[in-house]
Amino acid sequence: MIDRYGRIIDYLRVSITDRCNLRCIYCMPAEGVEWKPHDDMLSFEEILRLCGIMAGMGIRKVKVTGGEPLVRKGAADFIAKLKAIPGIEQVTLTTNGLLLEQFFAETGGGPMGALVDGVNISLDTLDPERFGRITRTVPGTEQELSGGQGLPAVLRALDRTRDLGIPVKLNCVPLRGFNEGDLSGIAALARDVNRAVRFIELMPLGSAGSLEPIPGAELAALLERDYGKPVPYPGRLGNGPAEYFSLPGFAGKIGFINAMTQGFCEHCNRLRLSSGGVLTPCLSSDGGMDLRRLLRGGVSDAGLRTAVAELVALKPPSHNFSMIYERERTKHKSGMYHIGG
Ligand code: SAM
Ligand code: SF4
Repeated sequence: MIDRYGRIIDYLRVSITDRCNLRCIYCMPAEGVEWKPHDDMLSFEEILRLCGIMAGMGIRKVKVTGGEPLVRKGAADFIAKLKAIPGIEQVTLTTNGLLLEQFFAETGGGPMGALVDGVNISLDTLDPERFGRITRTVPGTEQELSGGQGLPAVLRALDRTRDLGIPVKLNCVPLRGFNEGDLSGIAALARDVNRAVRFIELMPLGSAGSLEPIPGAELAALLERDYGKPVPYPGRLGNGPAEYFSLPGFAGKIGFINAMTQGFCEHCNRLRLSSGGVLTPCLSSDGGMDLRRLLRGGVSDAGLRTAVAELVALKPPSHNFSMIYERERTKHKSGMYHIGG
């Protein structure tokens, strides 16, 4: 599939749930959100049918995301079926990491590498107290994770991915007043192990409106101070919009997704399918194609192909987020957990 701007669309992000076991301050409101009733979510069979059709149209890579994808029962089995779809060359997973160890155990550890081609793990801090504040799982509150073991669970999962040889990208959202002190330490997770650490500029989605981002350029200067000059990495890593750099003595790479200060739409290759079955052409789209309605109305495969092609034709040249750096503070109404981040 090629859109009006000549971009090849071969990447689909599929949200399998809008539920989550965390409440990150930039993603979900403190009071939580009303979960979609189960019937309003696409079944795994429906998602697999759509992915099969889109694979026939040129989708080659699928990212399974959420909400937190690993809270949905049957995720491992679903991923295995996704991998088996002819034409799908790569299936990856984006997770907050809390249930990843359990997922490895369920899928037998070793074969996990064969099950997913890579894992993105979100990690915004290395400090347990700040982890509690950012994910709103502060010990003593009703949202405390069992035993308050959130951060150790994520770090154990990270070690496990290293032991299993699964390619990992760590995603960190720098937030002024929350995790400045952790960013250098998080970058260092790519020093001894060949993994990517990516810093994502906060986007004005969901509950992010009142938070202050840290621009990528400021972070690059901080890393240069601590580790030496970042050297642009000419190759590509993965399917996303990150720009990668090497730091002296680092085995892995540092990535910047400067979604706000640089824009990242020129090479956008993706569509997003929400857990409710809405296909959107862009993170900033307010609407999309309601494929659930079509699926449940008995649409043919040809009808679905037409709907997807119409949607691709609507893909805008770039996102339209108002610059939060300009303090407009207007924000997109849906969070990443809802759109399929
Ligand atoms: N729950 C999983 C996780 O946290 O990795 C997958 C879904 S989460 C919505 C996907 C990614 O979106 C995470 O890396 C998270 O940090 C990022 N994200 C959420 N809201 C964001 C925002 N307003 N700006 C930038 N990134 C955001
Ligand atoms: Fe959950 Fe991921 Fe959103 Fe955090 S960023 S609240 S882990 S969906």
